[in-house]
Amino acid sequence: MKTKTRVHFIVGLILVSIFFGRMEIFSNQEKRIYVLFRLDDYSSKSLTAFDLKVIESFKKRNLSCTFGVIPFDKSGNTAGVPTQDPHLLSAEKAAILRDAVKQGTVEAAMHGVFHDQVARDKTFGAGEFLTLDYEHQLGRILEGKKFLERMLREPVDIFIPPYNAYDSHTIKALEKAGFSILSADVFGPAGHDSRLKFVPETTNLLRLREAIQATRKGREPSSLITVLFHLSDFEELERREAKLSYPEFEDLLSWVSEQKDVRVIGFKEAVQLLPNLDAERFMTYQKFFRIYATLPEFLRPFSKSVYWSQPTLSRFIVVGWTLLLAFYLVLFAFSICVARFLVSVRFMNSRAAQFGAQVLLVLLLGHIVYDRNMGRMDGIALVFLAGFCLSLWSLRLLRRQNREHQLSNCR
Ligand SMILES: [Zn+2]
Repeated sequence: MKTKTRVHFIVGLILVSIFFGRMEIFSNQEKRIYVLFRLDDYSSKSLTAFDLKVIESFKKRNLSCTFGVIPFDKSGNTAGVPTQDPHLLSAEKAAILRDAVKQGTVEAAMHGVFHDQVARDKTFGAGEFLTLDYEHQLGRILEGKKFLERMLREPVDIFIPPYNAYDSHTIKALEKAGFSILSADVFGPAGHDSRLKFVPETTNLLRLREAIQATRKGREPSSLITVLFHLSDFEELERREAKLSYPEFEDLLSWVSEQKDVRVIGFKEAVQLLPNLDAERFMTYQKFFRIYATLPEFLRPFSKSVYWSQPTLSRFIVVGWTLLLAFYLVLFAFSICVARFLVSVRFMNSRAAQFGAQVLLVLLLGHIVYDRNMGRMDGIALVFLAGFCLSLWSLRLLRRQNREHQLSNCR
């Protein structure tokens, strides 16, 4: 390259760097992190004193929270157990909710209808809606919606399925009943043709700080973090599985309200601010989640606690597959080295040891086929054993060829 051309090239490179640097600064300035709090299980059975405490905590910090409200609470009922009478949302609880909604502190969503566990599915476990036929689900949903809207004196079009469990009939029934937003977790179904907006929960109270920090590292202009919590997360109410104390929760809310780039929103606002919360993005999030779960922890360069945008999710899927492939190639090479080493120190020379390794491989394959599911540890064990057995088999073949060669030379 001539000196003049080289200078032009370097100057060009600097200008491009400055341009992209400015773009980065610009994107950082524009960056907005949206946080959505979802509190499930508000009903006549939930502890009113604590419901009021939570409302007050959000109100004094000028933040909002979406309450998943159960119209006829029959939680605790399971299939085959005699049913108890439902606890209808009382006038007192409805009035508390109406006030909080009016003040802009609470957004109301319907959290199932009875919140019982009358249905059961092999993969998702028990739930209110799974496996029930469409008519049955629609009947329940319409009954709950009509009652809740009467009690709250306003339309309700956000649905949170109890235990985050629902099926394709639930989606159709929700559309028919006039719901527009569905919030569960990452595992439920979605159809390309669904008109619903999908806003899954992505994290809990304990991981919120970490999720916010994770979004700051990326270039995403607007990320969404949906925090699911229950009153049972508080030590004051539930000691066994509690996640944090109430003062810690208040500290967390204060911290969130102090973050300049964080804005706390509700589901309806999320749909307006992030217009692409459709089924396609949800399905891409599911693909991303699968690859995330398959990657070993030390190889995960992104957080699963954020509902990233579609382009970011697609990018993470490509990066995830590349890392996964590289990891398994290294693991495969490592298993070959281990097999060779064990043979060299005469540890794996016996036929019994070699046969044992093959049996392990066959058993593992059988387990994966039987389960119809390959977990992360299954994948690691499978690749390692495959490389290990292949190496033993090739060494044995090589040794046999050498022996035959020596014999033919002797003749
Ligand atoms: Zn619930």
